[in-house]
Amino acid sequence: LAKIRITKEFKFEAAHVLKGYDGPCRNIHGHSYELLVTVTGEPIPDETSPRVGMVMDFGELKTIVRKTIIDEFDHSLIISELSAEEILKIKSEALGKVVKVNYQPTSENMLIDFSNRIQPLLPTGVKLYSMLLRETVTSYAEWFASDNE
Ligand SMILES: [Zn+2]
Repeated sequence: LAKIRITKEFKFEAAHVLKGYDGPCRNIHGHSYELLVTVTGEPIPDETSPRVGMVMDFGELKTIVRKTIIDEFDHSLIISELSAEEILKIKSEALGKVVKVNYQPTSENMLIDFSNRIQPLLPTGVKLYSMLLRETVTSYAEWFASDNE
């Protein structure tokens, strides 16, 4: 059977801050992120399955990514543990939704986190193939399973 890749696109807005970085991302600021999640598998051959001909239901992939990533990260401030403590000291009441991560919240590191969230929830036989996280109109990071075997 042939293997096929399918991709679902997502958008979310979030602020982040890169502690110790010597560029503009050291200040709290926002991005309109675009996330592309690609999985690979063989289209289901069983004619009696409601998902015949599908690698997996696009809706199911959407639900997994929404639940594990978009719902948590959308309209949040993404900061690493260390900078969170510092900022919380200053103005805890003004922060609202904060996602505390134990890594520098670059697109690269966010993709590593996202891959760990999605992979355990995919159906049997379906593998995460790649993800693309667009941070600006001209900048994006990609995660590929083949780079991480
Ligand atoms: Zn940034």
